[in-house]
Amino acid sequence: LPVVAVVGRPNVGKSTLVNRILGRREAVVEDVPGVTRDRVAYDAEWAGRAFTLLDTGGWDPEGQGMAARITAQAEIAVVAADVVIFVVDVTVGATDADEAVVRVLRRAGKPVVLAANKVDGPTTEADAAALWNLGLGEPHPVSALHGRGSGDMLDAVLAALPDAPPESFDEETGPRRVALVGKPNVGKSSLLNKLAGEDRVVVDAVAGTTVDPVDELISLGDREWRFIDTAGIRRRVREASGAEYYASLRTAAALERAEVAVVLIDASEPLAEQDLRIISMVEEAGRALVIAYNKWDLLDDERREMLEREIDRQLIRVSWAMRVNVSALTGWHVDRLVRAMDTALEGWTTRVPTAKLNAFLGEVVSAHPHPVRGGKQPRILFATQADSRPPRFVLFASGFLEASYRRFLERRLREQFGFAGTPIELSVRVRE
Ligand code: GDP
Repeated sequence: LPVVAVVGRPNVGKSTLVNRILGRREAVVEDVPGVTRDRVAYDAEWAGRAFTLLDTGGWDPEGQGMAARITAQAEIAVVAADVVIFVVDVTVGATDADEAVVRVLRRAGKPVVLAANKVDGPTTEADAAALWNLGLGEPHPVSALHGRGSGDMLDAVLAALPDAPPESFDEETGPRRVALVGKPNVGKSSLLNKLAGEDRVVVDAVAGTTVDPVDELISLGDREWRFIDTAGIRRRVREASGAEYYASLRTAAALERAEVAVVLIDASEPLAEQDLRIISMVEEAGRALVIAYNKWDLLDDERREMLEREIDRQLIRVSWAMRVNVSALTGWHVDRLVRAMDTALEGWTTRVPTAKLNAFLGEVVSAHPHPVRGGKQPRILFATQADSRPPRFVLFASGFLEASYRRFLERRLREQFGFAGTPIELSVRVRE
């Protein structure tokens, strides 16, 4: 759902406006426990359009002046929201604190609807018009208390919301893009032949020099996959000088275009420097990752044990990756590989709604609070998933979060929301 955040100084009438937008109290569909207070996000609706209404008002880091607090609210709002409603009290006019918020909002370039509140009693629309000076466009005169003008203001909010993505958006429904990568001789070509069978369709075959990438469309499971730069896989680079450098450029280019990477590893040999380098490239590119241990038919018990130790020692960092053991030669477990690609992509594209995320983190944090450091206990005030493909979370905390605690939170997020096979990024913004 699109997110609309309400920002404003204390006493400008934010809560009244939030209640006004939600209608009667009973109309609140879902009260979501926030992390540090009872409610932050509400399900709201106007003119048939549903959205999440975010009340940043209770977001109240300790030990700060009011101006800093409201700037902090605005910072949250611009990260989390699609549209910001900025509430100003016309009986007071724009204050320095309001100006500070305006700077934050303008820098972020998010659409802002300016609500000029308390246009009732002796205050008039002329007073509201003075707020044109803020440079945020037309002030919408409202009386949150009496309800006056709030409908027009909400119309402006809806107009500023991003359009719902069209149904047939290629990013979502076209063939999924996969890069099959790995050092020479691990079995990429063999695997590709196994996967493609009769079904191979060559696309983008540009009149053939050796450097033109050629993709292949292959139907696997219940979807179509676009294997990127299969020319680079099938036309093997021989031991010419610079071959490895050339291959790694080609791998980087394939990863750039891919959504999910299958890194093929020759399980019959010790993990190589080059295997690890390729995995790092996938991490850096932020792609979903499946590690496929190939040539499993060649492994005896001793080698299998050895391999597990190598993985524990050298690949613990990417323990979130999907893992499959396969044999490209016999076709063993190749179906599992396809399912793993599916799962990894699913995690890569997952979006957790703000309300759900905060409710979950609220539970996690109250069961396992951050350890007290220097007499203080850092708290998580608010969290939002800023992006997907791969998932990126922004946490607002009242103090520095230790790396071990961040890893703990990442683990819990993975368990709860199924981020198998995808890197996730967790950044923490500290407000002392
Ligand atoms: P690429 O350089 O990664 O494309 O590797 P190829 O597909 O050309 O395979 C290199 C060699 O490994 C070939 O001789 C394949 O027959 C062999 N090979 C590939 N996969 C397997 C496998 O699962 N088991 C066995 N035993 N050999 C394999």
